Amino acid sequence: MEHHMSKYACNSCTQKSKPVDIPNRRTRRYFLFQEEKAKLRKDEDMKRYGDRALLEGKPCRGVKGPSIKSLLPLLDRSTCSFPEHLHSLCLGVVKSLMLLMFLKPGPWNLKEFTGAIDKVFLKNVQPPDDVSRLPRSLSFLKVWKASEFSHWLIFYSVPIMTKFMKKEYFQHWVLLVISVQLLSQEKISADDLHLADELLRLFLRDVGLLYPESAYTYNMHQLEHFGLCVRR
Ligand SMILES: [Zn+2]
Repeated sequence: MEHHMSKYACNSCTQKSKPVDIPNRRTRRYFLFQEEKAKLRKDEDMKRYGDRALLEGKPCRGVKGPSIKSLLPLLDRSTCSFPEHLHSLCLGVVKSLMLLMFLKPGPWNLKEFTGAIDKVFLKNVQPPDDVSRLPRSLSFLKVWKASEFSHWLIFYSVPIMTKFMKKEYFQHWVLLVISVQLLSQEKISADDLHLADELLRLFLRDVGLLYPESAYTYNMHQLEHFGLCVRR
């Protein structure tokens, strides 16, 4: 596959990323929200695209050529690479949104509350025994580990941030928290899976209303496929 900022970078679907002009930066490609979902990849398509890329000497729908891995029995090239919790979600989506909130100017910015949030977070939060990392100041956000973003998202952010985020930003954040909580259950009902899918679509749709278009990264787009991965 081509790299994550290329035209057809998604391993799961054929959504075409769009070039977006970012002030003072190079134009880059982002996976803007589409009302109509792009076609999911299939193993036979991946083979066809790979063969065509080899013949034409250039990538086809993001596939650079045939892969030796296709010789592995039962391997499906359209499902063998997928988004997951720690990298795609915690270090991808959660970290990038939190860096925006605490470091970048804009209507989402919470920098003025950093001290107050830290006070609640560091003094009032008592993690249970199975959480090995104690809460760490938001001033270390850039070096937080994936598990710290995970715990922040799932356990701490809602009770703490309700006092500090603007209402529309908080409601939007909660869509992500609920979806991830639903999808992280040991067992999931069809109704919960459907609900998580719907909430993630709403979350993704409104990313473009509340944050800059550059928030629609490859990892952000992967939220589109979280429900599908759990279903599979
Ligand atoms: Zn996709």
